[in-house]
Amino acid sequence: MKLAIDFADIVSAQDRLRGVAHRTPVLQSQTADALSGAQLFFKCENFQRMGAFKFRGAYNALAQFTPEQRQRGVCAFSSGNHAQGIALSAKLLGIPAAIVMPLDSPAVKLTATRGYGAEVITYDRYSEDREAIGRRLAEERGMTLIPPYDHAHVMAGQGTAAKELFEETGPLDLLLVCLGGGGLISGCAVAAQHQSPDCRVIGVEPEAGNDAQQSKRLGQIVKIDTPKTIADGAQTQQLGQLTFPVIQALVDDIVTVSDAQLVQAMRFAAARMKMVVEPTGALAMAAAMQGALDLRGKRVGVIVSGGNVDIAQLAQYLAA
Ligand SMILES: *Cc1c(COP(=O)(O)O)cnc(C)c1O
Repeated sequence: MKLAIDFADIVSAQDRLRGVAHRTPVLQSQTADALSGAQLFFKCENFQRMGAFKFRGAYNALAQFTPEQRQRGVCAFSSGNHAQGIALSAKLLGIPAAIVMPLDSPAVKLTATRGYGAEVITYDRYSEDREAIGRRLAEERGMTLIPPYDHAHVMAGQGTAAKELFEETGPLDLLLVCLGGGGLISGCAVAAQHQSPDCRVIGVEPEAGNDAQQSKRLGQIVKIDTPKTIADGAQTQQLGQLTFPVIQALVDDIVTVSDAQLVQAMRFAAARMKMVVEPTGALAMAAAMQGALDLRGKRVGVIVSGGNVDIAQLAQYLAA
């Protein structure tokens, strides 16, 4: 079966993002290497614009709008990084944006999204259906709805993170990537297949919501209840129709980590690497350093996906 994206799509995405997205640093840590027994290369998307890799996919999608789509605008429903990625990309491209967010979203997130110039449309998460609201907006105003992961342009954009990593490190033995809906890992797996064909790609998801692990083992998409985990960027209920086939074809395995392990990885990032990583952003890091996998003697890429965490909340994680 033909997959939703191929390597050429990632190359085109990289051209669109050139001079717009940051080429984020690849960091190493001797302490992390000693703990894992491996040579770890951290691709730090917590330093990406708006604080997460989501900017890549959002911008790649919006940059391909037709003049009419640009005029009518974009809408998205998300309370997290996708909303901010869309809002910032829309601002840079001069496209009107409407973001559907829960009424009880943290004030910082509502403010940040408005700060990027987007119109925020709130809804009651207990009584209203955000998808229906998003669809109605798309219909009434002719806006284009861009989903957070199940979209070829979004997937290709996210894949540029791994493409940059391989450009810097050369071939790797293993690549660890967190996953929620699977947009990031599917883009990264396509990049790996082309740039480092022998590299095993491993997905990392929260223990509380291992739907991707179940789906991969069963060979079909498994839907779960919204998982309770501090990794809010991975609280998805199921993989996408476009991301699942890529994961089936190109991802070797999926492992899980607990919330306690995430906190430990966030502490390591702060104490040893002097960086802020959000819980979801620490998934791959936690898997690399806490024995979930035998990495001894291997060269391993680790995608650190984002750093958007409320500072007071972070202080609690670090102090505990
Ligand atoms: C969205 C997000 C993820 C999950 O990405 P998917 O493409 O949905 O798999 C992981 N980390 C962060 C920081 C995110 O914002």
